[in-house]
Order: sequence, then structure tokens, then C-alpha cells
Amino acid sequence: MSVQQILDRFHTVASNPAKQKDAYLAAGKKVVLVAPIYTPEEIIHSMGLIPMGAWGGDIQIQKSKEYFPAFICSIIQSILEMGMRGTYKGASALVVPSLCDSLKCLGQNWKYAVTSIPFIPMTYPQNRRCGSAHDFIKAGYNRVISDLETAAGVRFDESALKQSNAVYNEHNAVMRRLDSELAGHPEVTAASRSDIFKSAWFMEKGEHTALVQELLQALENGKTGKPDNIPVMTTGILCDNPSLLSIFDKLKFHIVADDIAAESRQYRTDINMEGAPLDELADKFARMDNCSVLYDPDKKRAGLITSTARSRDAKGVVVVLTKFCDPEEFDYVIIKKACEAEGLPVLLIEVDRQMVDYAQAKTALETFKEVLTAR
Ligand code: SF4
Repeated sequence: MSVQQILDRFHTVASNPAKQKDAYLAAGKKVVLVAPIYTPEEIIHSMGLIPMGAWGGDIQIQKSKEYFPAFICSIIQSILEMGMRGTYKGASALVVPSLCDSLKCLGQNWKYAVTSIPFIPMTYPQNRRCGSAHDFIKAGYNRVISDLETAAGVRFDESALKQSNAVYNEHNAVMRRLDSELAGHPEVTAASRSDIFKSAWFMEKGEHTALVQELLQALENGKTGKPDNIPVMTTGILCDNPSLLSIFDKLKFHIVADDIAAESRQYRTDINMEGAPLDELADKFARMDNCSVLYDPDKKRAGLITSTARSRDAKGVVVVLTKFCDPEEFDYVIIKKACEAEGLPVLLIEVDRQMVDYAQAKTALETFKEVLTAR
């Protein structure tokens, strides 16, 4: 396939996850929904189930208002809204990690609002590196396993987990390679870049790895370079709204790196393959870092953003802040100060899953473009 044909395939999956879910169900597979931000997908995969991202959607919230106050992030609100509307019909369970206060509320409300799809909690320790954290994480995984066995009627086998851990490591590696490769391909638009990352949530990881490898091969033979594009780095939880991405593309911003939770943050840490697979999976979570929902008193994430932006020659950093996301709001000040200390211009754009008018973001990005081109 050509580069464009492969990008079209990613777009088809990313823009219609419900169709993808129904195709898996029609093929006799069982689908398990995985909520943000870090769910042990490897366990779900090893049990022969298809983990499918549930990060909500760009919709108007109505039904879930009965359960949530207005000042909670729209990702959470829209996940519940879609559950109540039947968008996730056919899924065997929803696994929700406890990594922020909003996520904790989601599971509790889901139990009452969407009774047809069982809620499975994944409780992580805040301090993931202290002496007892490993046992705590592993106990959480064992709870997920036991609940999945009940909900989906499947059995857990640790040797299958070892294979799934390898599948996920391979996917991590290919996504890191892709991220690096796309920094040299401004002809791949921000919208297409988002499609590639977003589709990973809705495809079996082995299938996604194969398609990304095909794209990398095609890109190696493809054209590069559009000198008038402006290299920038993005950071935040989510940056997948088509209207927002079309502004990036119209203004010729080239995303050369990201620190987006739904994108590159997922692929930074691999699982060691030497020890017992479930222990190594718990160890992976303990080693993860540089994320607003992972406790870090030193806030090393800000340094990672500036060093990544510098290494990719980004001219500026765009913070895509999900409205009412406390963990990201706390980090913003630290990120801004770190970027300013490095002489990197920063732009903050506030986004919401219910937003339809991006005029304010467009004006801000136009001004940011002027600032960057004048330097
Ligand atoms: S966007 Fe922020 S508040 Fe919402 S689920 Fe993610 S981390 Fe939690």
C-alpha cells in the first residue's frame, strides 16, 4: 500500500471505533473497554480478549449530567454518556484505573448508570516505588484477572501473559520509531499523525504493529521536507479533535514530538522479559514516570518536555489542557517555567470534548505562529 492508503486505513479505524468494535464482536472476539490512562492491557490481551480504548468522544453531554457535576473533565463525562447511550454495547467489561479523582468517580457511577457492562477497578498505589508497592500493584492485577474471568468467561495463564508482554513491547518500540520518523515528515499532517496514535486504541496490538511497520517502510521511500512548516511539540492528555488538528494543519504547524497521554506517554516504558510475567508487569508500572497522574515530587516531566523539544528542534510547545483536569493544571505552571527558562515559547489551549467552536484556539495559534516565525 502507498503512504496515503495506509494513512486512510488508520483514519477509518480512528474515526469509527464502534464499527471496529462491532467487527471484532462479529468475528467472535470479546471486547474489554480500557479507560484512561494506564490500564494493564497486556493482561486483557493475554486472556484472548480485545482491549479497546474508552476515552469518550466529542459529543454533547446530556444523560451523564445526572451523575456528574459540570466541573469534571469531559473525557470522564463522555465515557459515561456513551455508555448510557449504548455506544459500547457488546463489550464484556470496562476496566478503570484509579489514577485521578475523576476516574475514581467514573467507576462508581458506571456501576449504576451502565448495568449491562461490568465495571472492573484497577487500584494503583500513589507511591508506586515504596517497598510494598509491588505487592499492591500485583494484588490489583489479580483482582482484574479474577473479575475478567467472571465477566468474560475466560481463564488467565501466565505463559500467555509472557507472549502478550512481548507483543506490547514490540508495539511500544514501533510507536517510538514512528514518533521519531514522523519528525522528519512534515507532509504527514497533524490529523494523520493523530489517526495513527488513536487507531492503536481500537486495534489488536499485533495488527497495529504490522500496519505501522508497513507505514514506516513506505515513508522510507517517500518524500520529506516542507521548509515553511513550523516544528512544535504538543503536551497534554488528549489532542485528537479534528477541528483543532485542522487548525494545526492550516497554519502549517508540524508536530515533531508529543507528550500526550493518549499518544507517546503510552509507549515509553517496556516490560522486562526475564522474570515472572505478572511481576514484570507490576515492575513496569513502578518504573513509569513523567506523567501528571504518576506521583513525582520532582516533576521531572517538565525537563523531559524541554529536552525532547530541543532534541527535535521544536520552536515552541503547545500545552493542550483538558478543561477541569486537575493533574494537568498543577503541572502547567511547572512546564511553563521550565520552557521559559529554556527560551522555548509556550502556548496554552484549553479544550473540552463538548467544544464545537475552536475560534479562540485558532486566534491563539495564529498569534503563536507569528511569535515563532519572528524569532
Ligand atoms: S483528563 Fe485529567 S481529570 Fe480527566 S481522567 Fe484524565 S487525568 Fe483524570
